[in-house]
Amino acid sequence: MSTSKKRVPTRERAPEERNKDFYEVNLGYEKRDAMEEAERCLQCKNPLCVKGCPVSIDIPGFIAELKRDHISESAKILKTYNYLPAICGRVCPQENQCEGACILNRMKDNEPVSIGKLEKFVADWEREHKTLSVSVKEKKSKCVAVVGSGPSGLTCAAYLAERGYDCTIFEALHMAGGVLVYGIPEFRLPKSIVQDEIEAIKSLGVKIETDIIVGKTITIEELRDEFDAVFIGIGAGTPKMMGIPGSELIGIYSSSEFLTRINLMKSFKFPYFDTPVRTGKHVIVVGGGNVAMDAARSALRLGEADVKVIYRRTESEIPARIEEYHHAVEEGIEFHWLTNPVEYIGENGRLKAVKIQRMELGEPDASGRRRPVPIENAYEVFEADTVIEAIGQTPNKVLLETIPQLKLNRWGNIDADETLQTSMDGIFAGGDIVTGAATVIEAMGAGKLAAQSIIEHLEKRR
Ligand code: FAD
Ligand code: SF4
Repeated sequence: MSTSKKRVPTRERAPEERNKDFYEVNLGYEKRDAMEEAERCLQCKNPLCVKGCPVSIDIPGFIAELKRDHISESAKILKTYNYLPAICGRVCPQENQCEGACILNRMKDNEPVSIGKLEKFVADWEREHKTLSVSVKEKKSKCVAVVGSGPSGLTCAAYLAERGYDCTIFEALHMAGGVLVYGIPEFRLPKSIVQDEIEAIKSLGVKIETDIIVGKTITIEELRDEFDAVFIGIGAGTPKMMGIPGSELIGIYSSSEFLTRINLMKSFKFPYFDTPVRTGKHVIVVGGGNVAMDAARSALRLGEADVKVIYRRTESEIPARIEEYHHAVEEGIEFHWLTNPVEYIGENGRLKAVKIQRMELGEPDASGRRRPVPIENAYEVFEADTVIEAIGQTPNKVLLETIPQLKLNRWGNIDADETLQTSMDGIFAGGDIVTGAATVIEAMGAGKLAAQSIIEHLEKRR
């Protein structure tokens, strides 16, 4: 087997083929390639990759079992730390986490081990072969309500159920999964994979009640009466909007609306699904994160329009996963750096064009990135039929407004201590609703930590 300095490349669909449909872009490793890539891991005694992983997966351990062709054992190690490995293998920003920390980065001309792609390979193999059996500890008498079925809620519920606690998830939408189903598109994360991983969690005994909006259909007080503890993992689903002149024009979407119509309501399958999205000929997406990449690539796949992304900083500062940005470029999305919309121009109530201001980079701001500063009198006008704003999300107020006694921080997120206990006894919270918009694996880490704190809380009250 080779131990090349470079990664074994993965198979991807050709850009000119994949930019016309919603099938998965990344085809991943064949077994032979996965084994070859696994050989590149040095099996470090002090594995830096594990320190870079928010849920501390035993990365050398799962790779070692893969090297030995013990794929079921490898999957078992992954599942011990991570209930959603097929999802994380696809969407985690590994370059900032495990792979960013891999020791091979420090060796001349070496590339880090492709940990994410190996995780995807092992998790997909296990989905196909179903070798692992479910093991649940003796049933406990205590029950826990989980509000929200995103990665934080799913992980919290799975961890508790595995340890014998009775767990029910309440989800506002008709489908469980949170952003994994309504935000991240099919071509990055097929929904069948999300469903498979949710089914595995249900097999631990977790119950999922959909179409229940906590705060409307049922109150938090009713949940507190019925359950011994509550976890709130309701994410940050309310979009921020630019609020510039012309924002009321037809043709301006928030990324949340645009992506929900495509992912959850399957508008790309119109007329089989009755929810079309018409983009017109020219689409502009505002933003530089994963959400902007997903919106732009989805808009391109609807097949009507050219798509531009406008971003107020430069390529070096975009927060999107690097792989998604490269995929977007390959697929034909045009990027316009140092640009910011200042006005939407309409005709008969419909969007026609966007007035753009040119920017330059100034001093670093609180995030450490150089602040974008407008260049005086430097404007341009881009023709546009659709604008999708992807400039961030804030907490949804529906539940929070019904519990004014719950302490929030200055950004309107739930204030929780280091154990994820909130200001209300027996109520814990985690994921985006506490941190603000973050990542899948961070939300999962929070779900696990909250579950551990809930167990401690319940056992103290025995
Ligand atoms: P969510 O996933 O938001 O789930 C919250 C759930 O709570 C939702 O299902 C919601 O319907 C439900 N809910 C809300 N209010 C109520 C209520 N009152 N009653 C009942 N249920 C309620 N991260 C990555 O790591 N990699 C990526 O590639 C990536 N891409 C992304 C792309 C998009 C388009 C978006 C929007 C986000 C992306 N993220 C990505 C971020 C990541 O998805 C989130 O950080 C993560 O999903 C947060 O998990 P969560 O459990 O906190 O909340
Ligand atoms: Fe393998 Fe890199 Fe982790 Fe070392 S740091 S164990 S080489 S993946």
